Amino acid sequence: MRTRSAQEIWEAALGELQIQVSKPNYRTWLERTIGLSYQGNQFVVGVPNPFAAEYLDRSQRTLIAKTLIGITRHDMQVVFQVNGRHPNSASGYSTLEEARLASQTTSVRLNPKYTFDSFIIGSCNHLAYSAALSVAQNLGLGYNPLFIYGGVGLGKTHLLHAIGHLALANNIQVIFVSGEQFTNEFINAIREKNTAAFRKKYRSADMLLIDDIHFIIGKEQTEESFFHTFNALHNANRQIVITSTRPPKSMSSLEERLRSRFEWGLIVDMQPPDFETRLLILQAKTKQVAVNVGPEVVEFIARQAFRNIRQLEGALNRVIAYARLTKETPTPRLAAKALEDIAFKEPKQASITTDLIIEAVADSFQLTPADLKSKKRKQSTVAREVAIYLIRQETNYSLSQIGTELGGRDPSFVSRAYTKIASNINTNPHLQRKISDIQQRLRTKQKSSKRSSATIPI
Ligand code: ADP
Ligand code: MG
Repeated sequence: MRTRSAQEIWEAALGELQIQVSKPNYRTWLERTIGLSYQGNQFVVGVPNPFAAEYLDRSQRTLIAKTLIGITRHDMQVVFQVNGRHPNSASGYSTLEEARLASQTTSVRLNPKYTFDSFIIGSCNHLAYSAALSVAQNLGLGYNPLFIYGGVGLGKTHLLHAIGHLALANNIQVIFVSGEQFTNEFINAIREKNTAAFRKKYRSADMLLIDDIHFIIGKEQTEESFFHTFNALHNANRQIVITSTRPPKSMSSLEERLRSRFEWGLIVDMQPPDFETRLLILQAKTKQVAVNVGPEVVEFIARQAFRNIRQLEGALNRVIAYARLTKETPTPRLAAKALEDIAFKEPKQASITTDLIIEAVADSFQLTPADLKSKKRKQSTVAREVAIYLIRQETNYSLSQIGTELGGRDPSFVSRAYTKIASNINTNPHLQRKISDIQQRLRTKQKSSKRSSATIPI
């Protein structure tokens, strides 16, 4: 029987490794390796540069050894050797720095959990979701850039990773980077006098996903560098997706020309989750954890006015942990206990009152609060329904309490109005925009009322 050469064995191993590691990982680290020699228990793999040797030795040695053992049926130790004679070394990286930069390109770990499939769609985020899906499918041809903004913990990073996953699956070269990473890399490149490699890296992307761009604001040189990267990619019809906690127009210290670039494409916002979305998210999360959390507990947690999905997940985890600790089955009572110090403070802090809501809705429809409370005014029907919807979303008022606030309507009237808006909001972008504008206004009012009532310590 002919013994197989090291290269033949290695090719078989690569075939298996290709399935076992992610595509970018394979491309960066394994594609340009060769089987050098095979003696006794030692298998020597030739790699194009010391950086690859170091990475593979540190992170992939066990997996590679296992794969080789599977193929040869022999115990095996793997050694990586930098191999100057590699057939493709001309196309390899010329400097270590370049290899390092390139590795950052592709070794960025997209969180496998952050996909479109695991993203729950509600009225608070469905525009952002649709836009993200659309750019992932029609790179650079639709909205470019796509600019997604919203508060902390609302799913911006999740959507950005989801775009990345879909693009990678379609063999698109994606660069995913945070504003902070971009800044650090840029600073390092300047320090190491290696801005050419930095530029090359970013301009080679088919798609640039940049998370939390607000980080670069006010850092003049980084902004400048990003401006050029942006233009180069945009001119070449490469897709750019940007997230931020704030919309471009409110980033006052952002250089004007960069701000206007951001406004070229589509800007969408993400709102805090409403009750329905909170409920859906919690239902999805409880399905993932194999714990018996009943619907009444889920509803109880969803009722707490968490304005942030990360907190919402945290609350669920806390209830589960608490139940484990006390060896009790989760009940709403137990949940209340577990969330005592976080949940119940939240609605109190949120000083959005029904009056504030009625006022904001009336304003937005150019009516007066009295119009909304009046039983006679037909022309204020939609405004009244919107007010009902918002009061139910934003406060803990019961149906009959809401009825009382709006001029003595009965609970079934309130319930019908709520259901009507809750379903229309998904199909009517105009209505959705209007409602999210009102919510935005409420948040601002809430903040300013907090500020004005704050006492200054002397
Ligand atoms: P952001 O980047 O806006 O601060 P993240 O994307 O990090 O927020 O989201 C915070 C957490 O909430 C993550 O665990 C994410 O998976 C989860 N999450 C956010 N939005 C959704 C959603 N619509 N469906 C399911 N999970 C979500
Ligand atoms: Mg984020």
